[in-house]
Amino acid sequence: MKVYFALFFLMIISFASQAQTMKWNQNPVIAHRGAFKKNNYPENSIASLKEAIRLDCYGSEFDVHMTRDGVIVVNHDADFYGMDISSSTYKELLVKKLPNGESIPTLEAFLKEGMKQKKTKLILELKPAKTEEEMMRLTEAAVKMVHDMKATEWIEYISFHYGSLKRILELDPKAAVAFLASGDGAVSAAKLKEDKFAGADYNFAVYKANPALFEEAHRFGLTINGWTVNKEEDLLWMLDNKADYITTNEPELLFELLAKRKR
Ligand code: MG
Repeated sequence: MKVYFALFFLMIISFASQAQTMKWNQNPVIAHRGAFKKNNYPENSIASLKEAIRLDCYGSEFDVHMTRDGVIVVNHDADFYGMDISSSTYKELLVKKLPNGESIPTLEAFLKEGMKQKKTKLILELKPAKTEEEMMRLTEAAVKMVHDMKATEWIEYISFHYGSLKRILELDPKAAVAFLASGDGAVSAAKLKEDKFAGADYNFAVYKANPALFEEAHRFGLTINGWTVNKEEDLLWMLDNKADYITTNEPELLFELLAKRKR
């Protein structure tokens, strides 16, 4: 009998420790386009994603576009070294390399790399496409790939395109989506809640102009993320206002500030 008890106890401990190691990083740090700046990695590269993971960021943000032949690639701008992504094939884009020798990463490669661990989330930004039709094609293909690769737990979606986020929730009601906006583009927390969004992801200036947004969003159970916050005083202001997440080019600085506050 004692042996059974001991075994049972061991099982509980092993489950508990597994749960511990499977926990997502508990901090507000989201590396903007990966952690690229300090080590001079290219933005939106596998190298900057790996660095964000190494730093134990809560999330690593990245931007996606679709090539003419339907490959989803990771890049900020709609062009890659002068080549328009939406009118180029993936193969055509391979002619150019990032400064560290990487080819333009595919979403598939990004997910594969990110899924080697389970502590840092992948914050996927769907970039605006040239037409509504292309935007929906990108949205649907991204959601399909995330599902096909069983990456749903890793992913949070963000976009300036409201309809794209609503489409994601039609395809996957459990998805976490947050609306990106600056200036007049910001919508109320009530509206985000009504549309079943997880949070607001607004430009820092939007919060500065209307700090009541923090309380309002939290009252609706929404998260607040702000971008792109790089200066020490601004990072501290976001922390003081209990921002859930802060998207920054300076994840190392934000970690330093968080460590100082704990002391
Ligand atoms: Mg972005």
